Amino acid sequence: MITRNSHSVQGVDRAWQRELAEAYRSPVELLTDLQLDPAEFGQGLEARRLFPMLVPKAFAAAMRPGDAQDPLLRQVLPVGDEFLVADGFGPDPIGEQDGPMPGLLHKYQSRVLLMLRTGCAVNCRYCFRRHFPYADHKVGATELAQAHEYIASDTRINELLLSGGDPLMARDDHLAELVARFSDLPHLKRLRIHTRLPVVLPSRITDQLVNLLADAPWQVVMVLHINHPNELQPELVAGLARLKAAGVTLLNQAVLLKGVNDHADTLVALAEGLFDAGVLPYYLHLLDRVAGAAHFEVDEDRARALMAEQLQRLPGFLVPRLVREIAGEASKTPIDLKLV
Ligand code: SF4
Repeated sequence: MITRNSHSVQGVDRAWQRELAEAYRSPVELLTDLQLDPAEFGQGLEARRLFPMLVPKAFAAAMRPGDAQDPLLRQVLPVGDEFLVADGFGPDPIGEQDGPMPGLLHKYQSRVLLMLRTGCAVNCRYCFRRHFPYADHKVGATELAQAHEYIASDTRINELLLSGGDPLMARDDHLAELVARFSDLPHLKRLRIHTRLPVVLPSRITDQLVNLLADAPWQVVMVLHINHPNELQPELVAGLARLKAAGVTLLNQAVLLKGVNDHADTLVALAEGLFDAGVLPYYLHLLDRVAGAAHFEVDEDRARALMAEQLQRLPGFLVPRLVREIAGEASKTPIDLKLV
């Protein structure tokens, strides 16, 4: 039986680290706790050898017991389809493995992306970085100093993006050091944090984090990664309210995933749920074509049809932009919504 962890107390910095240490790493254990028979999943579970399984218990608690098709479970459970080799799917689908220095990517003129932490609190099976050579991109004190020097030398850069892995894997005191270090750069206007951590481990929204972001010398934007309305659990919604009250702009990017959220009712419920939680739907991404994730792909025509339904059923400001990331392109590529 899966229950929410009792030590996920607001404001306790280390509770999230303890919860992370207790995350599921064994598919058999997860399935058993979900009242599912691991034997029915056969050798597919061995796909954990391609990409380890990692699922915090707080995320598993939102899964429906006994439902092998649960949309949250499907995002994290290793399955046999990951062994399939599919045309057009490779290890680096968006061509991002080169940057000016380890841990720093400078794809867009005014923004740099710092891979602050190489790990995540969850391993999403469709992750475009599932083959990323994180070991070559570790950011320590030397790399932070180099990144600071790099940004200081290019006044066109006005936004620092923290990504990973998941940047909120960094402890609050490390984040505070980063804020202090970069706060002397006058051309930096915004700090953007791309994270899924609060979704899978809501206790990560600590009081220290909220206070740090409230006091940061820049506008702070948090881009969450929420794919399904069932992910909007009460503890997350409460944490988002605290971030919003602290002045953080909350946006969401979802990935369109077959068998997870490729239904208009689901996408409409997601948009409504996000707005209720103070989050604006921002992007709906077509799947990045990473090796091992072809079974999640929704084709463009189906994606257009889903967008047409959302446009009919939602106010325009709740309809995310449908985009694809194309290797070598200077920005995300919007998908033409005309049905062909
Ligand atoms: S949280 Fe994001 S970066 Fe981490 S595994 Fe999931 S998709 Fe990948």
